[in-house]
Amino acid sequence: MKQKRFILQENELPTAWYNIQADMPIKPMPPIHPATKQPLGVDDLAHIFPRECCVQELDTEHDFIPIPEEVLDKYKSYRSTPLVRAYALEEALQTPAHIYFKNESVNPLGSHKINSALPQCYYAKQEGTTNVTTETGAGQWGAALAYAASVFGLEAAVYQVKISMQQKPYRSSIMRTFGAAVTGSPSMSTRAGKDIITRDPHHPGSLGTAISEAVELATTTPNCKYTLGSVLNHVGLHQTIIGLEAEKQMTMAGEYPDVVIACFGGGSNFGGIAFPFMRHNLKDGKKTEFIAAEPESCPKLTRGEFRYDFGDEAGYTPLLPMFTLGHSFKPANIHAGGLRYHGAGVIISQLLKDGLMHGVDIPQLESFEAGMLFARTEGIIPAPESSHAIAAAIREAQKCKQTGEEKVILFNLSGHGLIDMSAYDQYLNGDLINYRVSDQDIEQTLKSVPE
Ligand SMILES: *Cc1c(COP(=O)(O)O)cnc(C)c1O
Repeated sequence: MKQKRFILQENELPTAWYNIQADMPIKPMPPIHPATKQPLGVDDLAHIFPRECCVQELDTEHDFIPIPEEVLDKYKSYRSTPLVRAYALEEALQTPAHIYFKNESVNPLGSHKINSALPQCYYAKQEGTTNVTTETGAGQWGAALAYAASVFGLEAAVYQVKISMQQKPYRSSIMRTFGAAVTGSPSMSTRAGKDIITRDPHHPGSLGTAISEAVELATTTPNCKYTLGSVLNHVGLHQTIIGLEAEKQMTMAGEYPDVVIACFGGGSNFGGIAFPFMRHNLKDGKKTEFIAAEPESCPKLTRGEFRYDFGDEAGYTPLLPMFTLGHSFKPANIHAGGLRYHGAGVIISQLLKDGLMHGVDIPQLESFEAGMLFARTEGIIPAPESSHAIAAAIREAQKCKQTGEEKVILFNLSGHGLIDMSAYDQYLNGDLINYRVSDQDIEQTLKSVPE
C-alpha cells in the first residue's frame, strides 16, 4: 500500500538542534563593527539580543545543541509536522521522480517562523526579560513572535511597516489577538520614527524604518530584548528541527533525498531543512544537491556579491559577510514579501561560496503557476514564498522526465497562503507581472556596500 504522510510520535521528536558551524570546512567570518572593523563577540551582541541566542550565534564548536525541555513542550502543540509524498503532483507532471514535501504550514501561525520565535522568547524569559520587540513586513514573523511571547508570558511590541499594515490587515489582527502591541512604522513613538516623519510626513515605512524603531525601543527600555526572524545563525539553528524530523521521516519512507529545496529570503527555512542533510555530505560522503529558490526580482544568491554589508537598509546593524545586492537595494513589490531581502545569512553565504549549495532564481509568474498546480493537485494553497520552492522542485522533476531518472526530491513548504488570497486574486485576474532586475541596477546598489 502506498503511504502518503509520515508522522513522528511525540517521543520520537529530535531533542537537539543541529549546528552546522561545527562541521563547516571553512568557518563563517565574524560580524564586525562598522566603525572600528573589530570582530564582535557575545557581549557586544547581548545588549540587543537574548544572551543565549548570541552564544549560539557564534558557536563553532558544538554540533548538537539541546532543545530546552520547555521549548520541546511547546513544539509538541504542533510538531512533528507531516512529511508528505506528493503523488498527485508527480502524476500531473508525469515524472519518474519521487517528490516529498515537509509541511511547515500546519501550526497556529501557518509558517515555519514559530520554530525560532518559541526558543527566542524562552531564552528572553529565562534571562529575566519582560518585553520583546521586533519589526515585521508582511507580518509572518510578527505574528509568530506575538504568539510565542504570549506562550511565555512576555509583552511583545511589533513595528509593522505602515504600508504592509494597510495591505495585509489580518496579520496585525492576528498579532493583536495574541496580545501584541502593533505600531505602524514610521511612528511618533520613537526618536527614529519622529525624525523620519518630520522629514517625510507621508513615508510609507520600510523594514529599515521598522528595524530602527524596534532596536531603539530595545536599547532604551529596561528588560526589553530585540528579536529577529531570519538571516542570523541562531535562527537557522532553531529551524533545523525541520530537517532533523524530515531525516527520520525519510527513513520511514525508505528513501534518502537526492535534491533538497527551499525558498530563500534570509535563509532560515532553507538552512532548517538543508543543514541536517548537508551534514551527511560533509561527514558521510553523501552527494545530495541543495537548491535555494529566490525570486528573480531579488537575486542575491545568483547575482549578488560576497561582501561585508549592513544587515538592514538604514545601515544600523553590524557588518555581516554575506552575498548581497547592497543594503540600499529596493526589491520590486512582489507578493512573496518574505523573500524581499537584499542579503543572505552568514552561514549560507559561506556554504554558497564554497560550492556546497547553489541558488536558482524564479520569476513571479512561474512561482504562481507552480503554486496553482500544487493547490490543484495536493490541495494546499501555498504561501507565495513557498511557491518558489515548489517551482524549483517542478523544474527538477521535469528534468527527471527528460532523463528518466527516479530522483528523490524533497522540498520545504514554508507556509500556507490563506492570508495572501488577494495575491492569488491578482494572479487569477492576470494582473501580475515579472520583474527581472537589470545588471545596471545591481551594479548601482552594490556601490552602497562599505569598502
Ligand atoms: C519569512 C518567510 C520566508 C523567508 O524567510 P527565510 O528566513 O528565508 O526562511 C519563507 N516562507 C515563508 C512562509 C515566510 O514566512
